[in-house]
Amino acid sequence: MFLIVPVFPQKVEFPQAYIESVRKGGIPMKLSEAEELICELMERHELFDECWSYQFDAASVRFGECRQRDKVLSFSKKLVYLNHESDVRDTILHEIAHALVGTGHGHSEVWSRKCVEIGVSPNRYYSSREIAGVRNRTAWLIADRRYGGME
Ligand SMILES: [Zn+2]
Repeated sequence: MFLIVPVFPQKVEFPQAYIESVRKGGIPMKLSEAEELICELMERHELFDECWSYQFDAASVRFGECRQRDKVLSFSKKLVYLNHESDVRDTILHEIAHALVGTGHGHSEVWSRKCVEIGVSPNRYYSSREIAGVRNRTAWLIADRRYGGME
């Protein structure tokens, strides 16, 4: 199998995460696609009806965050750019499960059951080691170039 990568005028170094995702037969998501997915899943689990909202943030180490007090699900823009749809989807559902069970549960049994119920494995946490992270500025700049800048 051949690895086909776009040709840029000047030599650029692709981030390892990107090359790996191409090898696995997929490319990382665009932010607009991730946004559609977030809306679809939040809608399905009726979070908008409960006044929840979502946002993207500049985190590089953690992928998603559920802020119970503000009713906000927040996702790392950089990690969306660098990861597969299935990883982005799992992260969204992970945070949705937190939102659905409410405060004080953390990664408890209650939260785990909710994960299973909505279709995400409670065992899949994304640490910066598991997920394609932004380990250096170059990797991020290349991802940024590929997707036409941050929104
Ligand atoms: Zn969590």
